Amino acid sequence: MAHQWRGVIREYADRLPVTEATKVITLGEGGTPLVHAQKLSELTGSEVYLKVEGMNPTGSFKDRGMTMAMTAAVEAGAKAVVCASTGNTSASAAAYATAAGLKCAVLVPEGKISMGKLSQAIAHGATLLQVDGNFDNCLDIARKLGESYPVFLVNSVNPARIQGQKTGAFEVVDSLGDAPDIHVLPVGNAGNISAYWKGYKEYAAPFESANGTLPAVSTKTPIMWGFQAAGAAPFVAGHPITEPDTIATAIRIGNPASWDTAVAARDESGGLIEAVTDDEILDAHRWLSSKEGVFVEPGSAAGVAGLIKKHAAGEAPSGKTIVITVTGHGLKDPQWALRTEDGSDVQPVKVPNDVVTVAAELGLEEN
Ligand SMILES: *Cc1c(COP(=O)(O)O)cnc(C)c1O
Repeated sequence: MAHQWRGVIREYADRLPVTEATKVITLGEGGTPLVHAQKLSELTGSEVYLKVEGMNPTGSFKDRGMTMAMTAAVEAGAKAVVCASTGNTSASAAAYATAAGLKCAVLVPEGKISMGKLSQAIAHGATLLQVDGNFDNCLDIARKLGESYPVFLVNSVNPARIQGQKTGAFEVVDSLGDAPDIHVLPVGNAGNISAYWKGYKEYAAPFESANGTLPAVSTKTPIMWGFQAAGAAPFVAGHPITEPDTIATAIRIGNPASWDTAVAARDESGGLIEAVTDDEILDAHRWLSSKEGVFVEPGSAAGVAGLIKKHAAGEAPSGKTIVITVTGHGLKDPQWALRTEDGSDVQPVKVPNDVVTVAAELGLEEN
C-alpha cells in the first residue's frame, strides 16, 4: 500500500520535541512537492527546484510550524491562542486552533491583508482584530498578551514554530539525496530562513534523539540566500525599518523577530540577504506562473526574483543545485495575476454561444 503522509510531526518525530504520548494536532501538512523548474534551470545553467509550500493545508509553509505550536499549546493546557499576522499565520493559526478545539485571536495590520487570507481566518472562526498599525505593532501587542494574559502565543518567536518549519529542509534533502548547493527564500520576519538553516545543520551532523544518536543524512549544508522586498529590507539596511512598504504583504515587516538567527544563517553558511524591488517581485511572480506552471503569491516570488537578479548581475553560479522555497499559494492573493504589465485589468474576451466564432477567436481552422 502506498505510504500515506502523516504530517511533519509524525514523519519526523525523532527529530522534534515530542514523545509517543504527545497529542499531535495536524492537518497533514508537509510532504510538499519539489518541482524541477525547467526554465529557471535553462536560464541559470544550474538545476533549479521549487519547494512548493502553497501545497500545505492552508496554502503556506506556516502550517509546518503551526502543527508544532498548536500541539505545544494543547500540551500546555492552553484554552486560547493569539498571533500577529500579515495574513498567512492567521489563516494557519485559525485552522489549527479549530482542529485543536482552541479559541483563536488574530491581530492583523489595517488594510494590508489579502482577501484570501482574511477569508480563511474568518471561515475557521478566529476572532480577527485589525490593529491601527503595521505588523510589527501587532506582534508587540501579541507578545504582551502572551506574557500577561491567559493566551498562548503562536508566532514564530515561539520556538516550537521554528522546530516545525525546519522540516522543510529535511524534505529537500530527503528528495534530492543530499543538501543543495544554494537554498533561496523570501525573508520577512526571518523565522523561515532560520528554520531551514537549523534543519540543514541538524541533517548534516549526527543528531541526539530521544531514541539514541541518528547518523548524518546529508554530506553538506547549503549556502543560504535570502531576499527581502526593497521597501522592507532591514537586513540590507542593517537596522529595523519603521515604515516598511511593499506590495508583497507577506514580507512587509520592518523589525524581524528572528534577527540574530537569520544573520547567523546568512553568515555561517557564507550566504547573503539582499533586496529585490516590487517590480522584480512581480516579474518573478509572472515568470513562475507563465513559464514554470507554479502559481504563488507575490511575496513568495521574492526568492525567484533574487536568483534572476543575481544571474543577470553575473553573480549566480552555474552547474549547481539550487532550491527556492516558494512560500504561499497564488490563490491567496489572485489580484496580481489579473493585472497586465502596464497596470490595467485583464478582461476576458466575450464571445457568443457559437462554435464557429469561438474557433475563429482561437485562431483555429476546421480540419
Ligand atoms: C510568512 C511568510 C513569508 C516570510 O517568512 P518569514 O519566516 O517571516 O521570513 C514569506 N512568504 C509567505 C507567503 C509567508 O506567509
